[in-house]
Amino acid sequence: MIRSTPFIFWLCSLGSFRFLAMNTQGHGVVNVAALGAIAGPKLWLPILGGALLPDLPIFIFYAWVKFIEKLPDRTIWREAYYRPFWQAMVAIGHSMPLAGAIALLGYFINQPVLIWIGISAILHSLEDLPVHNHDAHRHFFPLSDYRFISPLSYWDPRHYGRWVSLAEWGLVLIASAFLWSGILPWAGRLVLVLINGSYGIGYAIFYGRKLWKTCAQSPSSSQRAPSQAAVSLKSD
Ligand SMILES: [Zn+2]
Repeated sequence: MIRSTPFIFWLCSLGSFRFLAMNTQGHGVVNVAALGAIAGPKLWLPILGGALLPDLPIFIFYAWVKFIEKLPDRTIWREAYYRPFWQAMVAIGHSMPLAGAIALLGYFINQPVLIWIGISAILHSLEDLPVHNHDAHRHFFPLSDYRFISPLSYWDPRHYGRWVSLAEWGLVLIASAFLWSGILPWAGRLVLVLINGSYGIGYAIFYGRKLWKTCAQSPSSSQRAPSQAAVSLKSD
């Protein structure tokens, strides 16, 4: 599917698949809207940077195992992602103590850019916290290895992933409308359209395809218990 999709749509929908946190581009839109209203429009770039930074190790991980090690997606997200080295990198990216340290450093040396990078990275982690189940991050690393296992998931159908991802898209739409009504150049509006389009494409690909497969199953198989059907959906 990915290979046959034009590159720009592949790029946009990349973040809409299940392997990132709350979708990375969503963090960008929500953080710039929420924190930009406090910090002022001049600091949108460090806010955006802080919103994207926590997921950077995951992008590097994916590029490495996909294009260097050439692993299939199923192995990537079920095995390679849980290697200790990559788990440590992801934990560093999503560490609220480390992000707080960056913000504090910025405060003491009077660098607003660092302050807002740190604050935005903390907000990213707070956004991830309630929507990760078995793939929860260690947000208090290196002080603690504690993971908050939420009953909700931003992608997993067994943990209300369909509804959580829809709610996330709704939040991004509200933030987009807020930014759109501000002083936004045409390029910024184009990015918002692409991001929201990527949610639609990602949702259609990930859930629409699975829903179609489920509907196309034989009547006997569709009579399974909901939990069994959900497991089947995930393993497709
Ligand atoms: Zn994240």
